[in-house]
This record gives sequence, C-alpha cells and structure tokens, in this order.
Amino acid sequence: MARKMLNDGELSQPNQEEQTHFDFDLFVIGAGSGGVRAARFSANFGAKVGICELPFHPISSEVIGGVGGTCVIRGCVPKKILVYGASFGGELETDEILRLNGIYKRLLSNAGVKLYEGEGKIVGPNEVEVTQLDGTKLSYSAKHILIATGSRAQRAPIPGQELAITSDEALSLEELPKRAVVLGGGYIAVEFASIWRGMGSTVDLLFRKELPLRGFDDEMRAVVARNLEGRGINLHPRTTIKELIKSEEGVKVITDHGEEIVADVVLFATGRAPNTKRLNLKAVGVEVDQTGAVKKTVFGGQPCKPDYRDVPCAVFCIPPLSVVGLSEEQAIEQGKGDILVFTSSFNPMRNTISGRQEKTVMKLVVDAETEKVLGASMCGPEAPEIMQGIAVALKCGATKAQFDSTVGIHPSSAEEFVTMRSVTRRVAAASSNPKTNL
Ligand SMILES: Cc1cc2nc3c(=O)[nH]c(=O)nc-3n(C[C@H](O)[C@H](O)[C@H](O)COP(=O)(O)OP(=O)(O)OC[C@H]3O[C@@H](n4cnc5c(N)ncnc54)[C@H](O)[C@@H]3O)c2cc1C
Repeated sequence: MARKMLNDGELSQPNQEEQTHFDFDLFVIGAGSGGVRAARFSANFGAKVGICELPFHPISSEVIGGVGGTCVIRGCVPKKILVYGASFGGELETDEILRLNGIYKRLLSNAGVKLYEGEGKIVGPNEVEVTQLDGTKLSYSAKHILIATGSRAQRAPIPGQELAITSDEALSLEELPKRAVVLGGGYIAVEFASIWRGMGSTVDLLFRKELPLRGFDDEMRAVVARNLEGRGINLHPRTTIKELIKSEEGVKVITDHGEEIVADVVLFATGRAPNTKRLNLKAVGVEVDQTGAVKKTVFGGQPCKPDYRDVPCAVFCIPPLSVVGLSEEQAIEQGKGDILVFTSSFNPMRNTISGRQEKTVMKLVVDAETEKVLGASMCGPEAPEIMQGIAVALKCGATKAQFDSTVGIHPSSAEEFVTMRSVTRRVAAASSNPKTNL
C-alpha cells in the first residue's frame, strides 16, 4: 500500500498502521457532492473505497438523506429548475431529481465504490459503523475516514418557528404559495424570493442589513436590490421577525417594527448547521476534510492544497448575479495600492422584446499599478454563463490590457467585458468608502 502523502507534499514514514490490514483504504460518510467525488476519484486512483448514505427523501433530517445530497435533492438542481420555471412565469414538474439520484449511484458503482444505505458513525480511529434501515449494524475498518456529511437548514429561534418552512420544504411544496414571506438576506433567501415572485406570488423579503447579499460587492448588492424591487418584491431592510402566529387567513408575521404581514408560506433562510452531532466525533484520529485535495494527496501521489483564489460564484436571483475575484471593498481592504474601477450599465437587447427597463450591470476592479484584473461582477441575464470564462482569465492573471485586446462577440452582453475603455473611478488604497457612479 502506498505511503500516505501529507498536504505539504512530504511523505509520511511507514508505521505500524501502514502494515495493518483494513477493510477499506477509504470510508466516506455521506454521499453528497463532496463525498461522491472523493469516493469516485479515490477509487479511480486504485483505492478500495466504501461509502454510506442515509435513505432517500426530499426533506432531510438526522436519519434521512439520499445519494446526491443537498445539491441534487434539495439544493442547486431543484432550485435551478425552479428558476428556469420562474423565468417563464410558470409552474413545472420534473423527474430530474430521481434521475440524478440514480446517476450518482451508478457513478459510484461504475468506479467500484461499495455503497451502504444507512447512518454512519465513527466508533474508533479506523472504525466506522453503519446502522442500516432494519436496525442491523455493519462495522468496517478503514485506513482513512472522510467525513462528508454536509449541513442542514435551521429554523431561527423565534416564537412560532414551527409554522415556518426551510429550503427543504420550499423545494417540495405541492402548491405555489400566493403570499410568501422570506426571512434572510443570503443567496438562498434572494433566490426563493425571485422564484416565487417570478411565478406570480406576492413576496416580502425581510433581512437584517441595509442590503441583501452581505459579503458581495456593495454596488452590485444595490443593483440586485433595485432589480428585486423592480420585479415587484417588497423589500424590508433592517427587519426581522418577532413572532409567527397561526390565523384563519394564514400565518401572521409580526416584524420587529410591529408590522403585520399575512402569508401562506414563511421561509426561514437563516442559516445551516453541520451534520456532525450524531457522528461520535470524540473518536480519535479522524480527518475532517471535504476538499478535492484529499483524494489526490492521499491516493493520487499528487500532493496538493485546495486553491480558494478566484473562485467564481453565482446567485440565481432573477436576473442573476455572478462574481469572481475581489469586490471593490475587498480590493480596497487589501490596501496594496490604488484601484481602477470600470463599470458598464446598459439595457440588454432581449429587453427590447419584453419592453422591460432593467439594466445589466458589469464591473471590473483593476490594480492601478500592475493593471491586473482583481475582480469582475455582473448582474444580468446569463451572468453565470459569462463569468465562468472570465474566471479562467482571472486565474491566468489577465490584465486589463489583455481584456481590451480580446475581440468581443457581437452582438452580445459579454462583449462589454472587453470594451470598457474609460475608467469610472480611481480609488486610493487608503480610501474607506467606495463610491458608486451607477
Ligand atoms: C437551497 C440551496 C440551494 C443551493 N444552490 C447552490 C447553487 O446554486 N450552487 C452551488 O454551488 N451550491 C448551492 N448550494 C450549496 C450546495 O448544495 C452544497 O454546497 C453542497 O451540496 C455541499 O455538498 P456536501 O457533499 O458537502 O454536503 P451534502 O450535499 O449535504 O451531502 C452530505 C450527505 O451526507 C449525508 N449524511 C449526513 N450524515 C450522515 C451519516 N451520519 N451517515 C451517512 N450519511 C450522512 C446526508 O444525507 C447528505 O446526503 C445550495 C444549497 C441549498 C440548501
């Protein structure tokens, strides 16, 4: 058996553990995106891999899950399908979740990974116990144990919280709520507000800060807020829920400002907690890591660390926001020197058909001295599709001059990223308040 590679690339010394026989080289607890990927890739590197996952159901709990995990069953995939539906203003039904659940199982068996249905627990440094549906327990030894158990939505501790739902239930509703109240300012809150509004519901979005999407570029947050309002969502900044009361007309939402809103559905998108409570983590010697670096480092002989630079991301509100690299605030905070900000705001061509007055906004943050593009953001149709390519450019260290020397595809929105010739503003490194010219 290969000696263990440490993250910094050093080879560990062979020890007694190396010579011990284990049932598996790797046992993964949790078959979500992280666990499945780690299991498959490790098996492809020749490791003997076992994985366990809780039985399938759309609503998760401590004992319910399903192969594919949050992303496939109650996250990215069903959410994106609803975003598509909402963009066309209609309801839809699809079997996509079950199809993907089947595909994930096949991916595992094709890679030679042994799948167990049941709850995994750690019972010793190299020992995993799987409790199956009928209560029988299986026990396996593994040289490495990977905890890939993800997280679960939490309800905010507010009187009447049991009257609210989380994103799990929101993705499994039988009927479209006519009146929805969404609590939270993060991406899940903003996305569900967009979905329900796009399907015709009355939506009130309550969040604690002045703008939703804390952590994103402030200017782009303001653009998203403007668009949400423009599409008819009632925004309640600096607001939270004091109490929920069941009434004949629906759920009565009392805000901390004393306002009352009656809703058919109240969604709490207020955070998630790790699924580690029942794992018995007191068992010693457990490696907690969900990154792709583990499989390559341990089984692939390619020591590597996860690279969190220039990770692109998207918020699938309508229209979507997508970003990569630094926001203007982050670039200023880094204080490495002055920055140049380029912005473009235009009515996308597709709006000539709908007549909608909603600007697409793009932004580049550039290091004034090196001309390196530090960050890019876009809020408008197809932003995530466009940003994936921009992310490659940033990863390669592209400069603004290189962006400018790239020929734009015409007519497209994406071409604006390579035709922003004039600087919108120059911000001094020490400046604490980024300005907006939009
Ligand atoms: C509503 C929503 C929308 C999202 N949209 C996006 C998006 O658009 N883009 C994006 O990139 N990300 C999105 N995410 C986030 C994304 O879904 C997660 O980052 C991703 O699924 C995490 O994968 P994971 O493998 O770490 O955990 P999970 O997918 O949660 O997998 C963990 C698995 O472990 C299982 N498990 C837990 N305990 C045990 C146990 N003791 N024994 C056996 N199995 C166990 C669980 O059942 C689960 O299947 C969204 C999330 C939500 C909630």
